[in-house]
Amino acid sequence: MILVFAEQRDGVLKKAAKEAVSEGKRLSSKLNMPVGAVLMGKGADQAVDEVKKFGPDKVFVVEGEPLDRYSADGFAEAAANVAKEQGANVILFPATTMGVDVAPRVAAKVEAGLVSDITGLDVADGKIVATKPVYSGKAVATVKFKSDIQMVTLRSNVFPLEENPSDPEVAKVDASGIAPKGIAVATELKEGGKVELAEAAVVVSGGRGMKGPENFPLIEELANLLGGAVGASRAAVDAGWIDHSHQVGQTGKVVSPTVYIACGISGAIQHIAGMGSSKYIIAINKDEDAPIFNVASLGIVGDLFKVVPALTEELKKLG
Ligand SMILES: Cc1cc2nc3c(=O)[nH]c(=O)nc-3n(C[C@H](O)[C@H](O)[C@H](O)COP(=O)(O)OP(=O)(O)OC[C@H]3O[C@@H](n4cnc5c(N)ncnc54)[C@H](O)[C@@H]3O)c2cc1C
Repeated sequence: MILVFAEQRDGVLKKAAKEAVSEGKRLSSKLNMPVGAVLMGKGADQAVDEVKKFGPDKVFVVEGEPLDRYSADGFAEAAANVAKEQGANVILFPATTMGVDVAPRVAAKVEAGLVSDITGLDVADGKIVATKPVYSGKAVATVKFKSDIQMVTLRSNVFPLEENPSDPEVAKVDASGIAPKGIAVATELKEGGKVELAEAAVVVSGGRGMKGPENFPLIEELANLLGGAVGASRAAVDAGWIDHSHQVGQTGKVVSPTVYIACGISGAIQHIAGMGSSKYIIAINKDEDAPIFNVASLGIVGDLFKVVPALTEELKKLG
């Protein structure tokens, strides 16, 4: 079986989870294996209808008070139990914050090889072959597995989301025997974007060229108009202009939107590591030699304080 961790919060399936189940479905025809989607945590049963749209052959709903609050080791134990019971050969996780927290623990429990943050998946000789960017995106590694159980975490916004409705069997799994060592006692959500940075289709990011926190509303307005999220370089974050949760790059979030707009960002390798796999990169920088132009699909050499408001005005005209 191909088992997919279908991450949900309060009954709402994560976009990255839909992508992972879609990829599981595509793999299932190549490997000739059924796809199981596992839902857990508060609201898991409410996400069943949504997950069915992406074609799983079976849905596992892990229920029980021990998992009502998030617990990395509790979720990992529950996922590993399902994987063992079902004899899962391949396990897919979205490379979300939760996914990267839980997946390595599952890998240890089921003795699986794990390749994280992959951007490509294929099949050769009955096993999966994963590709992932390495050396801050300067090269791509192709990884084969020696282990029997093969696990990957999938980078968000890379694998196409494909509706493929099915009528799977829904199995309830009792989690009452799980005794998490640690649980999240409170969750504090940061203010800001309505759209989650790692899942956004459009990201508008600001760097040191933004000059100060008072100018960030400029890119927030542009991001809102495009239905996107606001990102930032580490220089802007370190200067205290914007919260670290917006940082894109090697020590921040990895994003892979359809459109990434870099405003006043030079394009250091550590920044590219977090956005280099975006489909279209638009760079606005007043220095025509800025390295960001080496990865840009469209480069605008100019003052962002002129270019961004002009772009915003044009977009407003489009309604
Ligand atoms: C271990 C390590 C990890 C790191 N992790 C990260 C990370 O996760 N993310 C990250 O971003 N960085 C990271 N960095 C830092 C990285 O090396 C760079 O220092 C940082 O990305 C620079 O940010 P910046 O491009 O905003 O600033 P700068 O490099 O100072 O670039 C500012 C740019 O703004 C342009 N500009 C100025 N004014 C204007 C204007 N009016 N209009 C248009 N353009 C203008 C300038 O021409 C310049 O190109 C890391 C570094 C290390 C050593």
